[in-house]
Parts: sequence; C-alpha cells; structure tokens
Amino acid sequence: MERIQISVFGATNSGKSTLVNTLCGQQVALVSDKPGTTTDPVRKFIELPDIGACVLVDTAGYGDEGALGAERERLTRGVVESTDVALLLLSAHPEDVKWEARLKDAGIPVVTLERHSLPEREILLKRIREALPAEAQRYLTGDLVRPGDTVVLVMPQDSEAPKGRLILPQVQLIRELLDRGCIPVCCTPASVQGAMLRRPDLVITDSQVFRQVAAAIPADCPLTSFSILLAASKGDIQVFLEGARAIDGLQPGARILIAEACTHVPNTEDIGREKIPALLRRNVPDLQVEIAAGNDFPEDLGGYDLIIHCGACVAGSALVRARTEKALRAGVPITNYGLAIAALQGILGRVSIPSIRR
Ligand code: SF4
Repeated sequence: MERIQISVFGATNSGKSTLVNTLCGQQVALVSDKPGTTTDPVRKFIELPDIGACVLVDTAGYGDEGALGAERERLTRGVVESTDVALLLLSAHPEDVKWEARLKDAGIPVVTLERHSLPEREILLKRIREALPAEAQRYLTGDLVRPGDTVVLVMPQDSEAPKGRLILPQVQLIRELLDRGCIPVCCTPASVQGAMLRRPDLVITDSQVFRQVAAAIPADCPLTSFSILLAASKGDIQVFLEGARAIDGLQPGARILIAEACTHVPNTEDIGREKIPALLRRNVPDLQVEIAAGNDFPEDLGGYDLIIHCGACVAGSALVRARTEKALRAGVPITNYGLAIAALQGILGRVSIPSIRR
C-alpha cells in the first residue's frame, strides 16, 4: 500500500500544529500563540496504528490578511490535490465553510474537528481509519493470494541492491502478505529451489511471541528472535544473558530502567513501556519502572536493579557498548528486550544465541 497523506487544514493559528502533535503523540510541530507561525506546509513521515505508513502535512492555513496571508492560502491550496484524508479544524472562522466545501468538492474525505474540543488520540485515529478511502487500503497482490498461501519472493541482492536493506516494494509486499495471512518465503535467485518448502533450520521470531512460537515448532528446531540477533551484533550478548538471568532474583520494590535508543512514538501496546513492565509486575510486587528515551540515558545508574535495553535498531554498536560498560561499572545488570521476554516467559534456555566473530 502507498503512504497515505493526511493533511491538516484550518484557519491560520487555529491550532493545526497542536493537532499534529496530538496525532503524533509527541511534539513534532512548532506551536505558537503568534498568528501565522507556519508558512510552508510541513511534512512528517509517520507510522500510525492500524493505518500504516503516512505522511502528515501541517498546512500553512487560510483566512489570514495581506500578501503573506494570500501566499499561505496558495500554498495550502497546493496540498489539496495530493491529500487522501483531510483533517479540518473548525474555529468559527468565516472561511471554514468554504474550505469544507472545497475539500469535499475535490472528493476528499473530511474529518471535521472543533478547535476547543479536540478528541483524544485514539478517537482521532479511529475517525481517520473510518474516513480512509477504500483504494488507500487496496492490496498490491489483489486476488492473486488467499490466507494461508505460501508466496516465494525472489529478491536478488546484487551490486544494484542497496547495502544492508531491502527496497521499498519488497518490504511492502512482505508486510502485505503477512497482513493477509500468507506465508512469505524470501530467497535470492540462487536459492529458489531451496526455498521450496522444507523443514526450517532456524526460526527467527519477534520476541513478543516467543512462547507461542516455541510451542508451535519442533522442540529441536533452533529458535531465536530479531531482537536477540540485533543485541548480539551490537553489544555483548553474554552480558545481556547474565542480565536476563538476574530477572529471577528481582526483589519487591525493584527499580528497573527501560532504555530506548530513539524517541519513537509509543503506542498503547509499546513493548518497552507497556508489555515488559506488565510481565515483570506479574512476578515482582511494587516494581518501579523508569523510561529513558533517546539521549536521556542517565549519568547516574546507582539505585537501579536492572537495565533492559531496546534492540537499538536505529543506533550503532558504539552506543550499546558504551551503555553496557556504564552499567557494568555501576554494578547494574543489563539485558535487552528479547532476552528479558524469553526469561519472563520461562524459555531462556530454549533460545539460540549466535556467537559473533569480530
Ligand atoms: S528498538 Fe529501535 S525503534 Fe525501538 S526504541 Fe530501540 S531504537 Fe527505537
């Protein structure tokens, strides 16, 4: 599916940037009481729950006077054509009615919102989902596949392929096949024959479903997780393993630091902020959980009983190693999400851990 464009319209200084921040769950747009803070439309690429990859456009607005106002309105009109869903912020401005008609005449679904009674983020997301045009959710594979189908994707990783990543259509199709209940099998042209179904030699899963996957595969089939592989490549996996073993010894009132390498937009099922603390709380009464996102890793680690670090997918090994050393110097065990979940689900001994050669 293509990236969906959600554009925010409203009179100048009607609170569009505040609406963008509400939708993103964090401060991404400049908010000011002074009229006309926004001039050019501001684009933010974002993944929204159950909507997918979106580009959020904060427009310059309309209804302002003078040459600058006319220029803002011209820039705002330029956004209409590429919009999939419009969020129209009503502020009792005389131009509101005209803009609602203009957007609807252009065939764009419009979600109208009152400036002084903005809904909560979850309600806002629900209204956007309901307004999405059907074609925005049309699948690339159309009627070629059904749930349960195995689909082999042949993806040459030659000198033309970008180093270390897949190209967008490949990623989109893998995601789409998963969404449709299919079983994508990826291979290069040289390994097409081997990709034809046979017993796997390794299963790599998301750590969150470790126990479920372990129960579904033969007991002698090696099992690991994306997060463990990332941790092993970026940090000292033996230290993380020791850290995961320390979970069993946590005492009531233990103080845990959840460390994230980036400042992503958390959702209601966030693994670090919601799921891992919930699993820990089942075993440890009065648990204290603190979150450090991005560069906010504390200088003073004294007083923590355990640090659980994210997979650091957007960070380099230098950051993970520096934090690991800091934890060791402070005498605080450190582990990562994948190993912590394996420990909390009682299958730490079942997971395979690569020995990394450097
Ligand atoms: S795993 Fe990646 S996306 Fe998640 S918090 Fe860490 S760096 Fe950010």
